[in-house]
Amino acid sequence: MNYYSFSVGDPVKTSWALHEIVKILPKREKTEGMPPIFYKFFPIANEEVRLKPQYQHLCCKTCGRYDDDEIFNVGFDDPVTIRFKGDFGHTDDRVFAVSEKFLKILMGKTVGGYETKPLGKSGWHALNATLRVDHSDKVLKCGKSLCSECRRPDDAFGVFDQLRQLFLPPLRNTFFTTKTGWPRHGSDRDFFITEDVLEALKEGGIAGGYCNRLWTTDDVKKHKERAKQGANYWRPPPVPLNGKRGKK
Ligand SMILES: [Zn+2]
Repeated sequence: MNYYSFSVGDPVKTSWALHEIVKILPKREKTEGMPPIFYKFFPIANEEVRLKPQYQHLCCKTCGRYDDDEIFNVGFDDPVTIRFKGDFGHTDDRVFAVSEKFLKILMGKTVGGYETKPLGKSGWHALNATLRVDHSDKVLKCGKSLCSECRRPDDAFGVFDQLRQLFLPPLRNTFFTTKTGWPRHGSDRDFFITEDVLEALKEGGIAGGYCNRLWTTDDVKKHKERAKQGANYWRPPPVPLNGKRGKK
């Protein structure tokens, strides 16, 4: 059986689950009494957002970083701003969000290994993978600079893209992820699905990015051989999720 990770298309517009948009720039004075770390400025998006009060105690007062699981446990209230073109993606504050249609497919096929919470009344849902597997410790590399308060590194680099990097779950029809999470820009963890879940998403007409098949040892060999021959970079071809949003 094959296993896949998600690649979401680069969002054209910002999306927010933990932050609320407080104003459209050009800027005015800040609301009083909020530590500066809880504001973000996005000149390109032409908006200023503020972290909602219910999450502030979970964020480091110095660097603003947080644990995705702890945020998920709190849940998600309005206002929520999702502006994805497709059916899934990461918000700018690192929540993996799926459309109603996406969730209905998972429920219809009784897919396991995940939980969801509604993103307010937006019709979108935050998804977290609950089946967690052991993994190689050599895939993710942390930045050297640690926050003086929470000791989290400033970033982590790397991606799980090979079968041999993970202890694969002995299950079909499931989401899964790594036991460890890292304070990365996009999300703490990579989410993976088994091939039958990918087939269900394709069949259901899900749009918004593509899935990457995790490399087998044969793929690694093929990649190396092609590289030796001077051919272009080879990798398992990505599987597009390019259904029509809103149909079916
Ligand atoms: Zn910190």
